Amino acid sequence: MSCCNHSHNDNGGHNHNGGEYQLWFTAASTGGLILGALAEFTPVLPDFLAVPFFIVSYIGGGYYGLIETARHLRHLQLNIDFLMIAAAAGAAFLGEWVEGAILLFLFSLSGTLESYALDKSRNAIKSLLELRPNEGLLRLPDGSEKLVPVEQMNPGDIVIVKPGEHIPIDGKVVKGQSAVNQSAITGESIPVPKKQGDTVFAATLNENGVIQVEVTKSVKDTTLAKIISLVETAQQTRAKTQHFLDSFEPRYAVTVVFSVVLLIFIPWLVLGHDFDSTFYRAITVLVVASPCALIISTPASIISAIANGARNGILFKGGAYVEQTASIDTIAFDKTGTLTLGEPAVTDLVLTGNGFGQQHSDTDAKNRLLAIAAGCEQYSEHHLAGAILREAKQRGVTPIKVDNMVSTPGQGVRANMNGSTVAVGNLILFTSQGEGDSWDKELLESADELRNKGKTVVFVVQDHQPLGLIALADQIRPSARDVIGQLRKQGIENIVMLTGDNSGVANAIAEQLDIDRVYADLLPEQKVEKLEELKKEGVVAMVGDGVNDAPALATSHLGIAMGAAGTDVALETADIVLMGDDLTKLPYLLSLSRKARKVVWQNIVFSLGVIILLLAGVFLIDLPLTLGVVGHEGSTLLVVLNGLRLLRKSG
Ligand code: ADP
Ligand code: MG
Repeated sequence: MSCCNHSHNDNGGHNHNGGEYQLWFTAASTGGLILGALAEFTPVLPDFLAVPFFIVSYIGGGYYGLIETARHLRHLQLNIDFLMIAAAAGAAFLGEWVEGAILLFLFSLSGTLESYALDKSRNAIKSLLELRPNEGLLRLPDGSEKLVPVEQMNPGDIVIVKPGEHIPIDGKVVKGQSAVNQSAITGESIPVPKKQGDTVFAATLNENGVIQVEVTKSVKDTTLAKIISLVETAQQTRAKTQHFLDSFEPRYAVTVVFSVVLLIFIPWLVLGHDFDSTFYRAITVLVVASPCALIISTPASIISAIANGARNGILFKGGAYVEQTASIDTIAFDKTGTLTLGEPAVTDLVLTGNGFGQQHSDTDAKNRLLAIAAGCEQYSEHHLAGAILREAKQRGVTPIKVDNMVSTPGQGVRANMNGSTVAVGNLILFTSQGEGDSWDKELLESADELRNKGKTVVFVVQDHQPLGLIALADQIRPSARDVIGQLRKQGIENIVMLTGDNSGVANAIAEQLDIDRVYADLLPEQKVEKLEELKKEGVVAMVGDGVNDAPALATSHLGIAMGAAGTDVALETADIVLMGDDLTKLPYLLSLSRKARKVVWQNIVFSLGVIILLLAGVFLIDLPLTLGVVGHEGSTLLVVLNGLRLLRKSG
């Protein structure tokens, strides 16, 4: 494989095998070159052996380039390898076998080093697999224990994990407690407490305590497996700059060949220059004008940036998103589950001052209110539904039986109960049906009061009359305010909050977080419209938790999902996933992708600079071919090494 081939070998799979043979071919090229030189320049070997040895060296050094060239010629395209092969053939034609052999030898050596370097980035993530044990201790139904390979574990099996061991498979803790270091998945090494019912992931480290884990996924479907395959796919997709460079390569190659033909014939035929030196100069131009470094400049950087992200709990779903992130100027946050923890709790139950409250004791009436609300919410997946059901359970209240439950996203739920209709939701749900207008003023006032304290209010309604309201409070993420401050410092001017919640709550929270633009009372489709508007002002990233904001994530230029360790929706809809449910990854994401963009541009400017410098050398000081080759391959390697710098943790 030659230096330029990587841009075509995006299906990295066979890279590894190629790499093995590649080494042998490079070795043959080296051997041939040394023996050929000994034959030609020293008395050690007879002169007549020189050319045969050089031919061996040519074959070793040029084999992969030749295959690649043939592949392109079949599509009537020229590529950069063609330029190299042509230059070497030209050197042989002039009898300058040594220079041709040096050319092909360096060409193949730098190709080998390059695939080695790029594999380092590609494998940075696969190495996580080594953390996952290949077997685990299964508890059999008869109570005995048996060590089995992870491939034989099935959902429902119970696995015992001891302190200090890595967890072999995804599952749910059914017995015991411990603290688990999840850095393999989330990039965050502070241990997370785990107790019965909590999810654990393959490859994470059980620090203390014996736990029994019920297997929930087979080994092929674990979160770790998903991360690895996502990262590999991402590393194969092309960044925007690379798209441009790839489409430019064939045209560039044709231009170079055409110029070289002119460079031979005009001085030789028209100006009457000596053929050999004209031809030699043309070959040198062929080599130094090859944009190998330019072509590899982007993938070398982007692949490393993707690997860096994955090791720090940031999953890029494609190379293009690395570049896209660097140009963000607006970040829109979803409120619930993103800026807040998404674990609301019921704080107040307020009864309407009508008959409902007076017939029963206050507690009975409140429990009845909760029973109706919980009945409606039984099958809803909304954060609020969970909170209402938890509160009911805590108070020992049984949810009433309902049927025909219908939920309206961003509004609430309606259902039937013994012939009457019941509903839980915000005012939009009710005003849209003409209810609400005649409601008890006192109830609406207490709703406003609660909202201004940052609480979410939902009304419980039976046969169009409010029974009362339930107030819920969610906690702001402890890191949110700091993160927003940091993002501002990084130059993100537009920070926006989008929420389906009421504006009272939204403003109360925005104020605490220092967010100045708030759009509240948005239905999911209005969030999409709002994002379309924001997109007119600049490049917009939407940060959401993947719970009912998939349309918004998809509409923004860049959808960033939070806390996806385990939630498949977010893994699928977002462009970037923050695995650790951790907002503090956002500033890191931003600085990583900006650094990547900088390295890409450094590489591009450097490779163009070297081409110009070497070309000037050829025409001004008759640069020898060998030096041209060294400059050309050297710059290619430097560009790759510069890209590898992005593997280092950035601060
Ligand atoms: P956010 O934009 O803050 O993530 P949503 O769009 O999920 O919020 O919901 C917006 C509002 O719709 C909630 O604050 C609530 O008033 C109402 N709502 C949505 N689903 C439900 C439900 N299942 N029960 C009660 N209210 C709901
Ligand atoms: Mg939400």
